[in-house]
Amino acid sequence: ADHGFDVIVIGAGAAGMMCAATAGRRKRRVLLIDHAARLAEKIRISGGGRCNFTNRHVGAGNYLSRNPHFVRSALSRYTAGDFIGLVERHGIRYHERDWGQLFCDDSAQQIIDMLRAECEDGGVRWAMPATVRRIEHHGEAAPEPFVVDTDRGSFAARSLVIATGGLSIPKIGATPFGYKVAEQFGVPVVPPRPALVPLTLPPETLARLAPLAGASFDVTAACGGGSFREAALITHRGLSGPAILQVSSYWQAQGYDRQDGASDDGGNGWAPVTLDLLPGIDAQAWLLEHAHDRGLLANLLAERLPRRFAHAWCELHGWQRPLNRFRHAELRAVAAELSAWTLMPSGTQGYAKAEVTLGGVDTRALSSKTMEARDRPGLFFVGEVMDVTGHLGGYNFQWAWSSGHAAGMAA
Ligand code: FAD
Repeated sequence: ADHGFDVIVIGAGAAGMMCAATAGRRKRRVLLIDHAARLAEKIRISGGGRCNFTNRHVGAGNYLSRNPHFVRSALSRYTAGDFIGLVERHGIRYHERDWGQLFCDDSAQQIIDMLRAECEDGGVRWAMPATVRRIEHHGEAAPEPFVVDTDRGSFAARSLVIATGGLSIPKIGATPFGYKVAEQFGVPVVPPRPALVPLTLPPETLARLAPLAGASFDVTAACGGGSFREAALITHRGLSGPAILQVSSYWQAQGYDRQDGASDDGGNGWAPVTLDLLPGIDAQAWLLEHAHDRGLLANLLAERLPRRFAHAWCELHGWQRPLNRFRHAELRAVAAELSAWTLMPSGTQGYAKAEVTLGGVDTRALSSKTMEARDRPGLFFVGEVMDVTGHLGGYNFQWAWSSGHAAGMAA
């Protein structure tokens, strides 16, 4: 094996390149291995091609993990501000959208080019495309190197960083490689599931909601402790839109708690998703104010909801009457339904449509300062392969930068 390296990083995505560049700047001799023919496809397609690379408001509350405090240390040592500084030093123009989300003005490719340039500055060497056939590590004593056998040769280093990401979008190269390495070295893995993913509805519900398909509306969506005020969308398969993607992570996480991570049962009835169709409005007071109106309920609702949606929603509930033909008790029931319209998803659209993977290498087995496996010195995990899942809005990339940097400082 070629022993000319101190650090081998497998996976040249967001976290892997950040880690390699950071270690390289510390004068570590770094080899970066990836099986893909094209570099960092996931960054390229991210944020609709403009890469939502971080968020101005990053905190531990923006992440799901079995160990919710795990992210604090790395996020505080490499912050959104640090990454913004890097972007600015590279002259990349960016803008802010709602809720502090930062996007490139021009193209996600600029972030890839920036990370590649940072790796070059750190003298990082590449093996790409290269297929890893086997990893060997004899004994648990730290000074023993990890030997990585690939179709481009065999390489050895004392530090091995796994940055192969999660399972979402298999068609651009996602693999369970990282979980298998964890398993090989006895590091526990929280069973992975698709997250930030559209939810499906059972056929009966879909048939009932067919007249609403295509409608997009602002809601506060809530599920299993997560609550998000954003747009929701009814599709021919179920529910989508940013509010739904956000709660899908919590919907999936509920399955964990109920089943302690047992395999997917199709999600039958794990948890309802509740949609407040009039976020920030006292629906009952509003309806009662209009209790004597002669117009249709749907016409009043159309003041605050898309017209077609308002009519179809009233029809769905059998509420196609003028307001003054509802008793007050009925208006209170309408208000309750508007504030907490409850739907029971049947599943998700899976990894093909998921933005990220929930679960992964168990953070309870890793150091929160260095991302190193407690029981396997020299072995590190960074980025999405870990059981850290960010909300939609640039938080997943920030985790890739922060965790990659933490390991890059230690490897
Ligand atoms: P990745 O970036 O996925 O990199 C993993 C690398 O490992 C890849 O290069 C892959 O080729 C390589 N690899 C995998 N298996 C092997 C193997 N067996 N051998 C060798 N190499 C391997 N997050 C945001 O914060 N903002 C966004 O705007 C955003 N938009 C997204 C849009 C889409 C459509 C998707 C799917 C995700 C988006 N995400 C976004 C999530 C974000 O892309 C990921 O969280 C992030 O890329 C994770 O970084 P990573 O380095 O851990 O993994």
